[in-house]
Amino acid sequence: MDSPPITQSLIKALSDYAFDRECGKRIEAQYLEGIEFSPSDAMLVGIYFEYSAFGTFPKNGKRPIPKTTKSKKGQSDKQGTLTKPYEIAVAQAEKIKAGLKHHGLKIIGKGEKLRHVMDDGTVVEGTTDLRLETTKPLVIYNHETGHVAKTIPAGVMIIGDAKSTGLLGDRGKWSEMGWHIDFVDQKPRLLIQAVHYTYLARNIYGLDEVPFIFFVYSQSNDISAMMLHVTIDPERYPIHEETIVTTRRLLELEIRLGSDGFRAKPELERCGSCDLFAHCKDRMEYPKIFNINY
Ligand code: SF4
Repeated sequence: MDSPPITQSLIKALSDYAFDRECGKRIEAQYLEGIEFSPSDAMLVGIYFEYSAFGTFPKNGKRPIPKTTKSKKGQSDKQGTLTKPYEIAVAQAEKIKAGLKHHGLKIIGKGEKLRHVMDDGTVVEGTTDLRLETTKPLVIYNHETGHVAKTIPAGVMIIGDAKSTGLLGDRGKWSEMGWHIDFVDQKPRLLIQAVHYTYLARNIYGLDEVPFIFFVYSQSNDISAMMLHVTIDPERYPIHEETIVTTRRLLELEIRLGSDGFRAKPELERCGSCDLFAHCKDRMEYPKIFNINY
């Protein structure tokens, strides 16, 4: 079996696997067998947010259906009113569109798959939410001083990623997937996306620098939002390339090991929310009993 393209989610999954934070059977199913796992409720709201804002469909190509007050009865989205999270998603979708317009950011590409083949044949991919172009100078501020940090002139291409999250501001302070302006630079699991997509764009478009902006919108209310431009140290790119190569080697090793590769790493919560649970012989259904000394 050939190694699949290296994406940022695969890099994170294999890194989690190496540190026992992900189950090998799940990685095998998702990345080698192409099994699509069910999105969480928060992910479904995020998908609907992006569909409402940009008309983009999720990876499965199906038009997202919002949950309504009638959804439980199996009726269509035309009946009932939107539940609160979806109502917020629709309001936030309008706000992100208005925000892009306000900042003079024109959409020139949506949901594009970027693909680059490294010299050693490793295929690297990523699907961007937005490719934008500045139609006027874009001013970026230093969040600590409030002073202008940089100005991106008109006519520059920017890669954008839209996030819909319940972990914005204080709610996201301590979560590795949370968005708090004072802590976000210490969260590599979030920022790898900026490095990965700009790495791809630099190679594909032959540019030395590609600006990247996260557009982060709250799922908890229809007011909170944050736009984050990520200035990436160029020295991160060769390190990212090494990470890509290491990921490919790890993947190939597990594939070569056959039935001994991709070990199951059952945990009560992980298994409890796993789509493979029903037929998995390694699943954990009951907590292990641990000893403590007192
Ligand atoms: S049920 Fe548990 S052990 Fe089985 S694949 Fe899922 S996470 Fe892994």
